[in-house]
Parts: sequence; C-alpha cells; structure tokens
Amino acid sequence: MENNETRTIYADNAATTKMSRTAIDTMVKYMEETYGNPSSLYVVGQKAKEALEAARAQVAGVINADPREIYFTSGGSEADNQALVSAAVLGAKKGKKHIISTAFEHHAILHTLKKLEKEGFEVTLLPVHENGLVRPEELEAAIRPDTCLVTIMFANNEIGTIQPIRELGAICRAKGVLFHTDAVQAMGHLPIDVAADNIDMLSASAHKFHGPKGCGFLYARKGIALTNIIEGGAQERGKRAGTENVPGIMAMAAALTEAAGKIDAYSAKLTPLRDRLIAGLSKIPHSALNGDAKKRLPGNVNFCFEAIEGESLLLLLDDKGICASSGSACTSGSLDPSHVLLAIGRVHDVAHGSLRLTLGEDTTEEDVDYMIRSVAEVVERLRSFSPVWRELQQGKRQFIL
Ligand SMILES: *Cc1c(COP(=O)(O)O)cnc(C)c1O
Repeated sequence: MENNETRTIYADNAATTKMSRTAIDTMVKYMEETYGNPSSLYVVGQKAKEALEAARAQVAGVINADPREIYFTSGGSEADNQALVSAAVLGAKKGKKHIISTAFEHHAILHTLKKLEKEGFEVTLLPVHENGLVRPEELEAAIRPDTCLVTIMFANNEIGTIQPIRELGAICRAKGVLFHTDAVQAMGHLPIDVAADNIDMLSASAHKFHGPKGCGFLYARKGIALTNIIEGGAQERGKRAGTENVPGIMAMAAALTEAAGKIDAYSAKLTPLRDRLIAGLSKIPHSALNGDAKKRLPGNVNFCFEAIEGESLLLLLDDKGICASSGSACTSGSLDPSHVLLAIGRVHDVAHGSLRLTLGEDTTEEDVDYMIRSVAEVVERLRSFSPVWRELQQGKRQFIL
C-alpha cells in the first residue's frame, strides 16, 4: 500500500480528545444565549442557574448519583486534589492518618499524596504487578485501623489497565474506609455506577470524553463533608468557589450523555481494532505489550521496544502523520522513564522505549494497518543507527525483551 504522507492519524486520545459536534454546539449556544451569572437574581441569571442544575442532574444520572453529590471543578486534577484533601481532613479529625494508593496513579494523585505525607500522613502504595492490576487481597491486607482513605484509579492513563473497582470498593465499604477513584480515563468509556461499584468519591474530566478542556467534576457521596481548596463565593453548595463555567459544564454534560449512550458500540468497535494493533506490533522483534492484554481500555495500546528511545520514535512517527505518546515524562526535559512502566516492573532501559497509541471512534482498520507498518519501519530504522542494538546483535549485551 502507498505511504500517504499527508494523512494525520490522531492516536493520542488518552492525552485529550477532540470535542464532539454536540459539545461544541452546546458550548457556543450557552456562550451566545445563556451568558448570565447563575448567582444573579434576575431572569437572565436564573436561566443559567436552571441550565446548570439540569446539567448536574444529567451528569448524576449517568453515574447513578444524586445531583447534590456532583461538584463541578476545573478538571480532573482539581477533583483529585479536593477528594484527597477532604478525606485527609476527615481522617485527621478521627486521628486516622494512613492512606492507601498505588504507585502508578496520575501525578494529580501522587503529588497530592506527597504533600499530605509532609503534613504527617503515612502512604502505602500497593503493587500493581506485571499486568498492571491491583490484587484485592493485597488491598484488604493493607487496610489498618488508622486508614482513612483508599484511592485507586479506575483505568490507567498510560497502559489502560482496568482495576476491579467494584471489588476494591466492597472491601473498603466492609472496613468502613473511604474509597476514591480517579475515573478520568474511564468516564464515558466504561459503564460506571457509583452505587453498585461501591464508590464514595470519584474524579472525572470533560476533555477525556469529547468535552471541553478545563472542566470536570467531583462526585462525593452524601454525608462526605468536602474541604474547599478554592475559597470565595458560595457556589457548588459552598464547596468550590468561583463563577461556574456554564458553557463548559453544559458541553461536558452533553458530551457525557452522548458518550454514555454509546459505550457498548464504542467498545465493540474499538476492541477489535486495539487487538489488531496489538497483534501487529507484537510481530516486531524484541517488543512487549505493557499491561494486561484484555483488562484494558478498548482503545489503549502501549508497547516497549528494546534499544529504542521513545522520543525519537515519536518524532519519526510525527513525520508520518501519527500523533502518539511515549507516556514518559521526558517531554519535561527530565530523562526519567514513566513511573507507570517502572511500577509494572519494566527496567529503565526498556521503559525508555515506550509507545502509547490510544484509538478513538474515528480510527479505522486502515489507520491501524498504517500504524503497524509505520511503527515497524521506524523501529527498524532507529535500530539500524543504534550502538545498543549492535551490541545486542553481537551478543555483547543481553536482550531484556
Ligand atoms: C488527564 C488525567 C487527569 C487530569 O485531568 P485534567 O482535567 O487534565 O486536569 C487526571 N487523572 C487521569 C487518570 C488523567 O488521565
């Protein structure tokens, strides 16, 4: 097949998604027509207030929550921060200062945990093993009388592995410990029912499900007193100050309703494409899939290639019109490999050669085949220049993969 250089394949849906037409139209409508401040008493303001409350009910309905349990935030990071700080404040009041999480959480969680450690909290990070999954019996064993919070992500943003959330939640419930989940990667892509899944608090972000950036929500079960991390006016039941981002929230609710309505179709379409991509990339010598092959998000593919530098791989794929990610922190100028890959036991050298491709609704089988050919070509080319690869070939170095 021809190598069509002009095409662009967006395969970084875990980083962000393109806004849906419905979300864009909703956003524009509320910017143009319903511009009032929801806190104002005149009709123009009250129209915005009514819309906001309708959006809250819509979001709540998708996850089987009560509208009063939904707090709009500026995104996933803020929701994560507020959930953890709130649970810590509640725990400290009872003299409970132990928190359980995992080593491969998003930095919005890990950095907040670091801050809490400095304030005297003790944090246990559960292992996620080679398959990228928490073992429920290990959570059960880690819970102590002074544990105030368990926070475990629903699905991982780098390797896509999906935790047994319902089971983990049931363990926490039985032990009377608050259970928070960062569901940013799962929301709109997997069915979520906060009641059935035993979830006390949950974070979500609109831009990961075809809504706008800078908009998200925190679900907190009735009776859980939140601590403000933004002080000011009495918006969001007094728990999150600041004039509500009405157009963003309306677009988020529309995008979530849309995504939730087609979860089955989305999964049925993406799962075979994901598996085709995994099968194709597995044929590249000395490569390995990261994370469980089946218990992963329908669109997530993450590989390591021996003797490859992730950044070079990304640049050459960009030349071929493929938008991908390494999942590592190298973009920030540091050479630290991904904490997620290290958490599943990849050694530094191998973790540096990672590639994450996250498919979306628009991805076609042709795109997948083009990605397989392109990655194979680029890996071969990079290896042909690589002194490490030469040493591996000459037997001066041992293959890891
Ligand atoms: C993207 C992401 C976040 C951060 O969400 P923002 O809305 O970008 O702040 C948090 N957790 C996970 C798992 C994510 O993928």
